[in-house]
Amino acid sequence: ETLDKGLEKSKTSFFSKLTKAVAGKSKVDDDVLDNLEEVLVSSDVGVNTTLKIIERIEERVSRDKYVGTEELNQILREEIAGLLSETKSGEATEFEVPKDKKPYVIMVVGVNGAGKTTTIGKLAYQFKKAGLSVVLGAADTFRAAAIDQLQVWADRVGVPIVRQQMGSDPASVAFDTLQSAVTQNADVVIIDTAGRLHNKVNLMNELSKVKRVMQKVVGDAPHDVLLVLDGSTGQNAFEQAKQFTAATEVNCLAVTKLDGTAKGGVVIGISDQFQIPVKYIGVGEGIEDLQVFNKYEFVDSFFK
Ligand code: GDP
Repeated sequence: ETLDKGLEKSKTSFFSKLTKAVAGKSKVDDDVLDNLEEVLVSSDVGVNTTLKIIERIEERVSRDKYVGTEELNQILREEIAGLLSETKSGEATEFEVPKDKKPYVIMVVGVNGAGKTTTIGKLAYQFKKAGLSVVLGAADTFRAAAIDQLQVWADRVGVPIVRQQMGSDPASVAFDTLQSAVTQNADVVIIDTAGRLHNKVNLMNELSKVKRVMQKVVGDAPHDVLLVLDGSTGQNAFEQAKQFTAATEVNCLAVTKLDGTAKGGVVIGISDQFQIPVKYIGVGEGIEDLQVFNKYEFVDSFFK
């Protein structure tokens, strides 16, 4: 129910476009397919993924000879779910913290404004609710506001934060955070990082230094690298995914701000194109507004 609400804008817009795409047509023909292509692209599914979906529907139309437009909803839903099943997105679950990894270290990356801090706060809240102890590391030392904002979330959730002055070395903050977590015997560490996309080499160097230094404390840290993408930025989110996956080994995604956009299709395109599981979606600014991404529920919520 909350998912439906969170995705309301995407859903309404998608439906009205889809309705227009088939208006006055009883049969799925080339015109309808052209319109459908436009609907998908304008919902930010991405061109490549859109073409894949259209191709599959074309195959179906040519196989079944006649496909009525009233069946299009169902077919589209099946094809999109099928596509997501082929990507690793289908396997996404919430973070699981194995007992033998203590502390379990999650490094969070993404451009400024994508919703990193907020997502970290929401995650910390979920871990705490699950009975795990959490330490946050404010390694986005480039902006004072980022440190303060993380502090606000740490206070809100009631978890400790390790911070230094603005401008200090991010790797040093990460190091301190891990040491503090080890001393406290904490279960989970979440490290915020600076999201400057000034240039790829710098970004790469900065993130690999943070990793290297963390490994002096916890040999196999980070256990997960979560990339946070702002879902309302559409094609920009694709571009950011490209840059960050090139700069560091991202192994899971969180797509935020899906409540404020009509372009929820971005989740489908990003899952398909990067073959990295979308683990979480952000559907609001509140502490509870982070959901584990479930592809079936997601696709269903679009067609309900
Ligand atoms: P950061 O710079 O990446 O750390 O971004 P922040 O976490 O500070 O988020 C930037 C803005 O986006 C803030 O105003 C957040 O409240 C807002 N925000 C983050 N996630 C969501 C979301 O899922 N939905 C909505 N509506 N706003 C969000």
